[in-house]
Amino acid sequence: QPDRLIDAEKRGEDVDTALRPQTLDDFVGQAAARANLKVFIEAAKSRGEALDHVLFVGPPGLGKTTLAQIMARELGVNFRSTSGPVIAKAGDLAALLTNLEDRDVLFIDEIHRLNPAVEEILYPAMEDFQLDLIIGEGPAARSVKIDLARFTLVAATTRLGLLTTPLRDRFGIPVRLDFYTPEELEKIVRRGARLMGLPMTDDGAREVATRARGTPRIAGRLLRRVRDFAEVAKAEAVDAKIADEALGRLEVDSRGLDALDRRYLFLIANHFGGGPVGIETIAAALSEPRDAIEDIIEPYLIQQGFIQRTPRGRIMTAGAWTHIGLPAPKAVAA
Ligand code: ADP
Repeated sequence: QPDRLIDAEKRGEDVDTALRPQTLDDFVGQAAARANLKVFIEAAKSRGEALDHVLFVGPPGLGKTTLAQIMARELGVNFRSTSGPVIAKAGDLAALLTNLEDRDVLFIDEIHRLNPAVEEILYPAMEDFQLDLIIGEGPAARSVKIDLARFTLVAATTRLGLLTTPLRDRFGIPVRLDFYTPEELEKIVRRGARLMGLPMTDDGAREVATRARGTPRIAGRLLRRVRDFAEVAKAEAVDAKIADEALGRLEVDSRGLDALDRRYLFLIANHFGGGPVGIETIAAALSEPRDAIEDIIEPYLIQQGFIQRTPRGRIMTAGAWTHIGLPAPKAVAA
C-alpha cells in the first residue's frame, strides 16, 4: 500500500479516541443514516430484543466503526470487534460467537474479506442463532449444533460488490455512508480543534475541511499535521493562510488531491488522451494494486466529477483537465 497522508486507511496514529464521537447526537453528518438508526435502536430497546443485523457500506474513514461503537453504547450492550481477514478459521469465529451475550454487538470490519469456509458458519449464526460445527474428520466426523445468544452483527465493507448474495441478504438494515459535505467536515474540524485545544479561525477550519476528501479520518489527520506547522510557526491561531501553507507543503492541493491522484490524472491525460482506459492498464502503469485504485483513489475522483467509470474504461472529464491545468481535447464536452 502506498504511504499517503490522505489515504483513508486506518493507521496507528489515528486511534485517537479523544476525537471519536461517543453518541449519535455527537456524530456529525450522515443525517439519514443516523435518523434511521435512532429509530431502529429505540424500537429494539423498547422490545428488549436484539437489533437486526446491520451492514455499513462506504469508502474507508467515513465512520463505520465509530457508528458501530455508538450503536452498542446506545443499546447498552457489549461491543466486540474483529475483521474479515483476521478470522482465519471457522473455529476463530465460533470462539467469538460463543462468547457473546444476549443483544451484544459483534462488529466485523472488511467483511468482504471473510474466507468462504468461515462465511458458511456465519449464515446459521445470523439467521437462527445457531452454530453448526463439524467435529473430527473422516468417518468419525459428526456435526454438533450449539445455541448462541441473540446478538447483532454489525458489518462494514468498502466493496458491496464483493459480498456474496446470501450474505448480503441476511442483513436486515443496510446503511450506505457517503462522503461528507464541506460544511459537515468543517464542523468536524472545528470540534477536533476544540478537543485538541488548538485555536483555529472559521476560515482555517474551512480550508482544512475542503481539502479532506469528504472523509473525517483524513480531516483528523490533516488537522494534526496543520497543528504541527502552527506550533513550529508559533502562530496564535490556525487561519486559512497557515492551513493553506501547511497543506501545500504536504502536497495536498486545493481540491484535496495528493501526488498519487495527480499522477493518476496525468497518466490518463498524457498517455491515453483522457481515456477511455482500462483499470488494469492504469494499475500496471502506476504500479499500484487495482484494489487500492478502485477503493481509495477513484471514489473521490468520481464524486468530485473528475473521472467517469464506463464499460470501456475510465474517462477524464473537462473539470479534471482544467484542474491539472491542461487543455482538454476537443471531444471532451464541458
Ligand atoms: P471507518 O470504519 O469507516 O473506516 P472510522 O469509524 O474508523 O471509519 O472513523 C475514522 C475516523 O474519523 C475516526 O477517528 C473517527 O473518530 C472520525 N470520525 C468518523 N466519523 C466522524 C463524524 N461523523 N464526526 C466526527 N468524527 C468522525
